[in-house]
Amino acid sequence: MSSDLYIEQLRAQFPILDQQVNEHQLVYLDNGATTQKPLSVIDAICDYYQTSNANVHRASHALSNKATTCFEKSRTKVQQFINARRSEEIIWTKGTTEGINLLANIFARQLQAGDEIIISALEHHANIVPWQMLAKQTGAIIKIIPLTQEHCLDVEAFKALLTANTKLVSIAHVSNVLGVINPIKKIIDLAHQKGAKVIIDGAQAVAHLEVDVQGLDCDFYLFSGHKLFGPTGIGVMYGKYDLLQQLPPWQGGGEMIETVSFEETTYNRLPFKFEAGTPNIAGAIGLGAAIDFVNNLERSVLEKHEQRLLAYTEAALKGIQDVVVFAQNLNKSGAISFIVKGEHSTDIAMLLDAQGIAVRSGSHCAMPLMSVLQYSGTIRVSFSVYNTLDEAKVFIKALQNVIQMLQE
Ligand code: PMP
Repeated sequence: MSSDLYIEQLRAQFPILDQQVNEHQLVYLDNGATTQKPLSVIDAICDYYQTSNANVHRASHALSNKATTCFEKSRTKVQQFINARRSEEIIWTKGTTEGINLLANIFARQLQAGDEIIISALEHHANIVPWQMLAKQTGAIIKIIPLTQEHCLDVEAFKALLTANTKLVSIAHVSNVLGVINPIKKIIDLAHQKGAKVIIDGAQAVAHLEVDVQGLDCDFYLFSGHKLFGPTGIGVMYGKYDLLQQLPPWQGGGEMIETVSFEETTYNRLPFKFEAGTPNIAGAIGLGAAIDFVNNLERSVLEKHEQRLLAYTEAALKGIQDVVVFAQNLNKSGAISFIVKGEHSTDIAMLLDAQGIAVRSGSHCAMPLMSVLQYSGTIRVSFSVYNTLDEAKVFIKALQNVIQMLQE
């Protein structure tokens, strides 16, 4: 089957794509913000509520056992999906943001004044602000890996930032703005040589790249279900078993305890120690269905297709006068950012929306990166498995028209 036919068949599984927006066929190029959901995910969530809804791990009745089995099956699917050693290493969160906050809150009790945390200049606010809050609380110091002229992480500068005081390194696998794939294996190995723990923000990676947490040897890996064809409100924090065992819990409440008395409380075993309260059961089951969906995809066909979309779009953008494309010719995944000289990125996005084309504009929750790029915002197109080359062409044509209109 040709890749074009394969993509057409895939699209049929995403009913939302088949609609008119502002009297034009929708062209959805904002997948970095969230992906659309296939019918199998929507059905799994409906089916859970229609046939299996009960609280998990608590009651000794059949429905609760059924819900618990489905819920825990999803955890095993995540474990296999990212090649974690054990299912206890998979902690459910609300999303990447909550996972990083969880870690920052826990490490706030472990770090001391003068300890160092390294992040990079291209991080999402979710991987900046929790560390700033921790630094304020503990006196820890945040150091920033700069970008090279070409807009990739400066690994040589990273080496120089590492010291005996470096305790944590927290880095995005893929930049949500530039789409650049960061050299995380190199970063993990260098950080480990200094005894630092490494946290990888995988929010933009999981839908595009195969993730092997054992191969990477990262200490923690975080992602959000909604960027992987799953529902919102569910995410994953992977952590190495021994580390999770040693770390204290974050939130207290039901589920995370073994025994409670007013004198002393003991904590539950992993993974429940980090899962206080009723979890997002339907979300976890929906994410399990999303992983089934991804596992059934022809990944090699889709990788080539995505690279074709990126290559076409980057080349076409470079050919338009007054367009500046960032992170040109780098190993990218999913997204391309650009600006149009003299025009506001939000104006461009709104005029594209008037033609049914959904792109993202602004600072993309990465204001420090905007300072590095020296623009207040960019326009980002981000692709997913169901986007076609025709859609990329429609976008380029519409952009040319918008620029011409604004410059007239
Ligand atoms: N990190 C990166 C790189 C992201 O792209 C995002 C989402 N835009 C986040 C973190 C935060 O993810 P969420 O809002 O799902 O918690």
